[in-house]
Amino acid sequence: MSVTRVAVVGSGPSGAYTAQLLTEESETPVEVDVFDQLPTPFGLVRYGVAPDHPRVKSISTSFAEVFEETPGLRFLGNVCVGTDVSIDELRAHYDAVVFANGAPLDRRLDVPGEELARVHAVREFVSWYQGHPDQSADAFVLDGKRAVVIGVGNVALDAARMLVREVDDLRRTDIPEHIVEAFADSTFDEVVVIGRRGPAFAKFTNKEFIELLEVESTDVIVDPADLELDAEQQAHIDADPAARRLLATFQKAADRGSLGRSKTIRFLFDRTPVAFVSDEAGGEPAGTVAGIRLTKTSDPSVIETLEAQLALRSVGYLGKAIDGLPFDERTGTIPHRDSRVVDGDEIVQGVYVAGWIKRGPNGVVGTNRKCALETVTSILEDIAARGGVSSATSAEAIDDVLRSRGVGVVDWNDWRAIETAEVAAGTAVGRERVKLYVREHMLRVAAVGGELAGVPAHA
Ligand code: NAP
Repeated sequence: MSVTRVAVVGSGPSGAYTAQLLTEESETPVEVDVFDQLPTPFGLVRYGVAPDHPRVKSISTSFAEVFEETPGLRFLGNVCVGTDVSIDELRAHYDAVVFANGAPLDRRLDVPGEELARVHAVREFVSWYQGHPDQSADAFVLDGKRAVVIGVGNVALDAARMLVREVDDLRRTDIPEHIVEAFADSTFDEVVVIGRRGPAFAKFTNKEFIELLEVESTDVIVDPADLELDAEQQAHIDADPAARRLLATFQKAADRGSLGRSKTIRFLFDRTPVAFVSDEAGGEPAGTVAGIRLTKTSDPSVIETLEAQLALRSVGYLGKAIDGLPFDERTGTIPHRDSRVVDGDEIVQGVYVAGWIKRGPNGVVGTNRKCALETVTSILEDIAARGGVSSATSAEAIDDVLRSRGVGVVDWNDWRAIETAEVAAGTAVGRERVKLYVREHMLRVAAVGGELAGVPAHA
């Protein structure tokens, strides 16, 4: 019996769970190479999960233990599959290739003015404050009064909360120092969160909503009139205990009303965005958002314009087509049967999916474990059906391919060096840890074993 070799593309929650479960569940020897285009592992755990949610982020500690302790499990960071190595090459080198590369695009509203400056996909904002190396460090200047967030999911709530968080709270996180300073300088004192339907259909979870109510500096304003439910909302509440709990929290917020705090998060329901507008009187630089035009969803003849100097659309992420693989444009996912990629009725041999590229951008981090287990089960069934015979090449063979192309692979030890440098960068500014956010800096400290080596501690 030979060793089965599997490539996993993406080291976020779905990729990390897939790698972990493959090594745990396989009864025959298996080696797993986890590729990531970033020099850092764990995808959305590092760059999506809110920095003020350390408990959720701590899943990266368990993933790290798996990488540390599992023989035959490797991290190959800073490798872009599709550019540095092709999908066909991966298929030739491994017995199975799993795409666990998430949903890197954003849904749009497709309304006029969406291209104005300071109208952003929420992902850009999140990437910016998380110090994602592909996001420009000066992408946001928080010098307005009111921000609007369109959409009422957990990502919208994260963004709204970050905009009102006290700077002391941010200093307890690992976000880069210039981001802490940008938030410290923020002049925004109101965030309006806009739902196109009523509160019964809000998608965020009760736990996150309760957390928002606990932010000390901030009033959370809910209009009691919005809690008088129409028949559709009432039916939804009657059928869904989670929605019922959420509505009870909305009621608490409405009852609490304003406490005269310095910042406000206000919910506006039953509103459909129809356009972003710039300041025609010339107050803002031409081409910069100055407001959002909304209609009442239940009565489109009612139109209002809300002034805003920053607009974040948080209406869902979207998967991206991968050259050479089938793709469902409508759902933004790769079609599959039991996690095996299919092209029409045909199974694409040896190619699998896990996570958001498989099932769409939904669920919490833990949802990916169950999803990855389905994927792993199919892979192991297929391997067993081949009698455990491997047609993969060796680890050295793929390393040679990457080396011959000058790809600077960041392996697990290199990542550990980046972590060491991040702790040193934190110490330099009196914080536990501060993320490096410039790719070249990460590569440089990896090359010298974690010394900051000329990398500015907080630049
Ligand atoms: P989401 O939960 O699907 O929410 C998307 C929101 O956008 C919904 O309120 C939706 O309203 C709205 N929307 C969609 N199209 C719209 C349009 N054209 N106009 C106006 N509104 C529109 O997505 P998400 O917030 O991006 O979150 C993605 C996943 O990550 C979710 O499963 C979420 O729970 C998870 N997540 C979890 C946490 C956490 O646990 N703390 C944190 C972040 C993310 P409709 O309902 O009317 O379609």
